[in-house]
Amino acid sequence: MDSLFIQAVPIIERIEQAGYEAYFVGGSVRDHIIGRAIHDVDIATSATPGEIKAIFPRTVDVGIEHGTVLVIEKHGSYEITTFRTESGYSDFRRPDEVKFVRSLTKDLMRRDFTMNSMAMDKKGNIIDPFGGQKAIMDKRIVTVGDSYERFYEDALRMMRAIRFVSQLGFTLDLETLRSLQENGALLKHIAIERIHAEFEKLLAGPYRVQGLQLFVQSELYKYIPRLHNQKATLKQLTALPIDTLSVSEIWALLLIQGHVEDVSSFLRDWRLPVKQIKAIQRVVFFANKPSSFVEHVYDLFEIGLSEGVQAAKVRAVVHGDSVSDAEALVRKKYADLVIKDMSELAVGGTDLLAWRNVNPGPWVKEYLQMIVTAVLKREVENDKQKIKEWLVQCNLM
Ligand code: ATP
Ligand code: MG
Repeated sequence: MDSLFIQAVPIIERIEQAGYEAYFVGGSVRDHIIGRAIHDVDIATSATPGEIKAIFPRTVDVGIEHGTVLVIEKHGSYEITTFRTESGYSDFRRPDEVKFVRSLTKDLMRRDFTMNSMAMDKKGNIIDPFGGQKAIMDKRIVTVGDSYERFYEDALRMMRAIRFVSQLGFTLDLETLRSLQENGALLKHIAIERIHAEFEKLLAGPYRVQGLQLFVQSELYKYIPRLHNQKATLKQLTALPIDTLSVSEIWALLLIQGHVEDVSSFLRDWRLPVKQIKAIQRVVFFANKPSSFVEHVYDLFEIGLSEGVQAAKVRAVVHGDSVSDAEALVRKKYADLVIKDMSELAVGGTDLLAWRNVNPGPWVKEYLQMIVTAVLKREVENDKQKIKEWLVQCNLM
């Protein structure tokens, strides 16, 4: 068993000692069976949230209305969720009623796919009432029960199906694919934040090309803001070498290939964080320049290494060049820059003001920019006295 499970065994034992059942459930059990690394463990229990809070001294009510209590222990914290059933999804996303139950099987039944509906006890025994292990062996993503019903209950499950294809390289059977094709419109009821989380997992998966192909084939893209008119672009992406691109780089590529002009509002509609939006905007701007920014020292200085690498990779994909060569080149050119940051310049605004005896104004910034460019182009050495002489030579002082 993974050490994350072993660390959590005492938690399960304490719940059992109090007279209740507790198991590992969800993604960690699935990943354990597949042999993938586990990133967190979820525990499900027959105890109610109140009963859990009576067992553990330090807890936080993170989602008590749907039965989740966070238990804080010395070596970490654990989400413990009471077995529950859900019913009546009149808004296609949240159940109208959540009922706490004492039966593990009933809890497993409400879960989306058979591979996600297994439990594991503290000894490592697997409880698998819906055939999750078989589905994993067959590399298939199968809904628990009828796929139409399950997607109708919660349309996000359709996006989850595709992101699992991208993460695991599993396939959907024809029936499930047809069900996606017919129920896609229900995604309109789902908050973009939740779609965003699944879509980014799709973009990051090792089988992202298959995931994107299915995103197009299933026609789910039609019901997603800003992507509904991008079928050709999405298809193009699946034919490009996107394996080594980060999520931000794929966003930039999609925006460029899709000729999206209002980059910022597009990404705001997807609820990306402002910092990431600004970075992607810069990457798009530099990747789109007619001649490679790598050849222009000031451009390279301005964009910096991290975004420079991103822009170079995206640009290489757009132009059909080698992505790894582009990355290596930008790293080399960047390493060769005389200075990497304004603070490394041998003169500053105060020097210029002292030398020229002119009131402060926009000229200071313009001068500094000229000096930086000259230093980067090695027209003048990055040395106070040499820069002063250079300014005189250029009739700037
Ligand atoms: P990841 O490894 O990316 O966290 P995960 O399967 O653990 O994948 P979570 O969103 O963490 O995904 O959900 C934990 C578990 O809760 C799932 O394994 C599944 O059993 C259940 N679950 C999550 N979302 C849904 C849903 N929309 N409908 C039904 N069950 C769900
Ligand atoms: Mg999880």
